[in-house]
Amino acid sequence: MAQGGWNRPRPGLQGHSSGTASTAFPHSCILDPMDKTFEELGLSSNVLEAVQDLGYTEPTPVQEQTIPLVLEGRDVIAAAQTGTGKTAAFLLPIMSNLGHIKKGQNPICLVITPTRELAQQIDETAHAIGTYTGHRTFTVMGGTKYEPQVKAIRNGVEILVATPGRLIDLLQQKAVNLKHVRTLVIDEADRMLDMGFWPSVRKIVAQVPPTRQTLMFSATISRDVTMSVGSLLHDPAYVEIAPKGTAAETITQYLMPVERSQKTSLLIAMLEKKGAERVLVFTGTKQGADTCARQLEKAGFRVRAIHSDRSQAQRERALEQFKKGKIDILVATDVIARGIDISDVSYVYNYDVPTNPEDYVHRIGRTGRAGETGLAVTLMGPDEISALREIEYLMGELVPLYDLEGFPYRDGRIVPNAKRSTKRTRHNVFSGSKMRSQSRRGYRR
Ligand code: AMP
Repeated sequence: MAQGGWNRPRPGLQGHSSGTASTAFPHSCILDPMDKTFEELGLSSNVLEAVQDLGYTEPTPVQEQTIPLVLEGRDVIAAAQTGTGKTAAFLLPIMSNLGHIKKGQNPICLVITPTRELAQQIDETAHAIGTYTGHRTFTVMGGTKYEPQVKAIRNGVEILVATPGRLIDLLQQKAVNLKHVRTLVIDEADRMLDMGFWPSVRKIVAQVPPTRQTLMFSATISRDVTMSVGSLLHDPAYVEIAPKGTAAETITQYLMPVERSQKTSLLIAMLEKKGAERVLVFTGTKQGADTCARQLEKAGFRVRAIHSDRSQAQRERALEQFKKGKIDILVATDVIARGIDISDVSYVYNYDVPTNPEDYVHRIGRTGRAGETGLAVTLMGPDEISALREIEYLMGELVPLYDLEGFPYRDGRIVPNAKRSTKRTRHNVFSGSKMRSQSRRGYRR
């Protein structure tokens, strides 16, 4: 790949077709933070106790803006990137206002979410709050047995959390009745569209009374999402925290151009150099995740791959081991990683540049969560420059090159495992020619 690969127009200039926040949100309001406390938002005293127990000292921006609207009974469309505290943004006000049901009655709140991992996270937070409010939550999702789910629903739960496929199955078996649902949450709407769940979501929503309150959360709101979702909400209030494609400010991003064949050894060299604890590695394919995990394991790292071909039990075990520090590195695909709540991640490595630019924002959003600082490094092969360009357009910023000093070169290529070179000059790893400038001067703002 020629050096000219970097000769690209600055992101955000004319000709860029990606929708901006204002085009996606015809009536959106990007509000200034009001710096309110949880007490000032109008939450119930039980919920405020739960907030304390969860260790939240002040509301995140999405919580500050969404909670009062939900408490007022408004329908809400909220665009907030992952890691912004959106789960609590809907659960806290819902559980502040939600009534209670008697044994054997039907759920009064339904949360639909695309992945099992996300469903479990919502379940965990709802249980934590429920300890104080007395609400029961149950989660139905694929990959688990039907009978206990049917039994639990029959016993009566106020809040039902569900992935679309399993909920449709249970509706067809008449094992669940949604006629008493007062509040409906559609979580990660954009991902549900991407994953082809939308027909199922519509079928589910058709069984919920039209008088319900509807809250829709989406990391990014595309025209597709607005068109699909629009008819499901009644006069919604729009909340937008960060414009589409904005990475959290606490995340430092770097780019490492490298030959594809050198990616694994460069990753290993980086892990050895920067540390291999609490690391997430993203690959574009399931096979890629397995191969990468195998190679890292061979190099002596404690690593697991998680993707949709792994059983539910395997995925849960891997997540648990990662959370407890029994393994250091998780190699994941985008579908599975979306929405997983793993805090305190030190590094995110993009083994492949994602072809969907919004996935990049989600991937790097795994680090730098809730005010922590994070580092995200992208290994870019020669054939991935256009994918990177899309990402940079979306974010409106360039991803700076990692300072490769310290990595030796041979014949103009990075040789991660070789002895350190004494030469100080850096080279273009693709063409072998000396790089004119490490910093891509001339393309910076
Ligand atoms: P979410 O965007 O819902 O996936 O939440 C991301 C992480 O932020 C989770 O680990 C939450 O427990 C955490 N979190 C949510 N709200 C707050 C808050 N107000 N203060 C601190 N952490 C929070």
